[in-house]
Amino acid sequence: MRRKRYREPVFSGGFTAFLLVILLIGCGVVLYIVMSSDSGGGVASLRPPVSNESGTGDGDYEPGTSVGMGEGQDPGPGDTTDNVVAGGEPDTNSGGVEGYDYGDITGVPPTITLLTEVDNSLLPWYLKLVNRYNFLEYDFYPQLTYLGVGGGHRFDTRAYRALLNMFESARAEGLDPIVVSSFRSVSRQTYLFNRQIQRNIDAGYSEGQAFENARRVVAYPGTSEHNLGLAVDIVSNSYHGLTARQAETAEGIWLAENSWRYGFVLRYPYYQQHITNIIFEPWHFRYVGVDAAAEMFARGLVLEEFVSELLQNQ
Ligand SMILES: [Zn+2]
Repeated sequence: MRRKRYREPVFSGGFTAFLLVILLIGCGVVLYIVMSSDSGGGVASLRPPVSNESGTGDGDYEPGTSVGMGEGQDPGPGDTTDNVVAGGEPDTNSGGVEGYDYGDITGVPPTITLLTEVDNSLLPWYLKLVNRYNFLEYDFYPQLTYLGVGGGHRFDTRAYRALLNMFESARAEGLDPIVVSSFRSVSRQTYLFNRQIQRNIDAGYSEGQAFENARRVVAYPGTSEHNLGLAVDIVSNSYHGLTARQAETAEGIWLAENSWRYGFVLRYPYYQQHITNIIFEPWHFRYVGVDAAAEMFARGLVLEEFVSELLQNQ
C-alpha cells in the first residue's frame, strides 16, 4: 500500500510530462508549417519572390539628397524640391507599375473589411492612416526633431528616439543606412503641387490636364505619409536608388527583418500593392509603435488591414 501510494503520483506526473512533450512537438510542427509558408507573415511577405526591375514611380523621390543621420550635413537641394518622381511612368495613385510582376497576391482574411475612409480620431497618433482616401488637414504640423546636427531631416519628436535606436543597431552591425526623405509639411506639399500645375500650364496644357499630370509626379497634398512626420525613406549608402533593388542591399534586408523591433514597418510591401495603392517601396518605413509593428510583421499585415481590424473590434 505504502509503495503504491508512493508510485501513483510519480506515474501521474510522468504521464503529464509525456502529454506536455507531445503537445510541444505538435506546436513546433504547426509553428514550422506557419513559418515556412509564403502566405504567412514575416519577411517573406514583404519582399518580391525574385529580384525584379522596377525603378519607376513611387511618389517619394527627392533628388540630390544623401544626408546621413547625425552627420551634420546640410540638406541638399533635393530637400526643397520634394516628392518629384524620378522619371519613368510615375503615378502614385495607379496602384502599381505596368508590367510589374505582382506574384501571388496574399488574400485578405474574409473577416476583415478594408475601410477606405477611417476616423483617425479613434486611433492613437502612431497608427494614423494617411493614404489616397485619408487626407491630412492643411495645417497639420507635428512636433518635430532634427535628425542629426545641422541636417535638414526632421521626424516626429515622439518617435525620434526609436528611429535613432534603429540606426544605431544597424550601424553596430556594420551597416550604413542613410535617410533620403523625412517630414515635409502639407502646406509645402501644396506649394509643390501648385508649382507643378503651373509648370504644366506654362508647357501648354489645359488646367484639367495640368492638374492630372501634376498628380502623376507630385503626391496630392495631405496624402503622403511624409506629411505625417512618421515616415522615413532609408537607403543603403552603397546604393541610393529608390528601386526594388534597394531590397537586395544589406541595409534593405536588415531593415525588412528588424525594423519591427524598433516600431517600424515596411509600409508598402510587394504583396499588398493592391491594398496600399503604392508600388513596392523597400525604402519607405513608417513608425507604428513596437506592439503594432510586431503584430503586423508576424501576420504580414499592412496598416490598412491592421487599422481596419482594430476599428472593427472596437
Ligand atoms: Zn517614402
